Amino acid sequence: TQVIKPRIREILSKELPAGLVNLLPKHWVQIGDVLILPLRPELEPYKHRIAEVYAEVLGVKTVLRKGHIHGETRKPDYEVLYGGDTVTVHVENGVKYKLDVAKVMFSPANVKERVRMAEVARPGELVVDMFAGIGHLSLPMAVHKGARVIAIEKDPYTFRFLVESIWLNNVQDLMTPYNIDNRNFPAENIADRVLMGYVVKTAEFIPKALSIAKDEAIIHYHNTVPERLMPDEPFATFRGIAREYGYEAEKLNELIIKRYAPGVWHVVVDVRVFKR
Ligand code: SAM
Repeated sequence: TQVIKPRIREILSKELPAGLVNLLPKHWVQIGDVLILPLRPELEPYKHRIAEVYAEVLGVKTVLRKGHIHGETRKPDYEVLYGGDTVTVHVENGVKYKLDVAKVMFSPANVKERVRMAEVARPGELVVDMFAGIGHLSLPMAVHKGARVIAIEKDPYTFRFLVESIWLNNVQDLMTPYNIDNRNFPAENIADRVLMGYVVKTAEFIPKALSIAKDEAIIHYHNTVPERLMPDEPFATFRGIAREYGYEAEKLNELIIKRYAPGVWHVVVDVRVFKR
């Protein structure tokens, strides 16, 4: 996220009605060489020209209008305002992520968590990433720490980019991608660490995560939580389900990732699980 460049304002103030210049977006997100621009409805008639100017000044090939992220596979919904090629390589913290920005989610707000995963990973440990996406959280663990990763992603289109990103980072000997629903992943009792980078319905997947985890494994449990239920939730629900399935759970750490909706936070809890 940056601050509007004087050059953008200079060009567009000659072309837009005076009152609209102050409505030009002051913040945006750049993923690789694709820009995601939030645009006020008042700017609708000028959206293509505005996008063209942002593209030229910022040196990007495509500009998308910011939309929303939907559904189980977390697909974004963006309108192409300029250019057309939405496939790009985004480099963050020394990790290369190849993705189609228009169709695969990449949340800039989760950057701290991607960096943190690289820090907590241990060489040679086995990580199972149950909601891998393009390897958002687990690529850094393989790239920076030499962790071994099983990366499960059910959406075939997202999966293509997961595979390409693994090869781009040259960690194909460390990471094994599976294009399946994690509920159908057969192995049990194998992981030193399980990533549950998913929101809203994550609790439904706790029994599966427990079965994949080894005794004393760490589970990074993400979920969305209404503020009034914090700090008990989301750990209380996790521990309740764990106990039902014969496990004890210890909360090691808890972090807020970002605001998800008004009064609702995206939180991650690091939990150590013990078989009873
Ligand atoms: N874990 C990454 C992060 O936190 O940045 C990516 C999160 S993305 C929101 C979640 C991904 O999980 C999506 O790519 C979606 O297709 C995938 N997914 C959802 N349900 C799944 C399931 N049951 N099995 C495997 N993948 C699933």
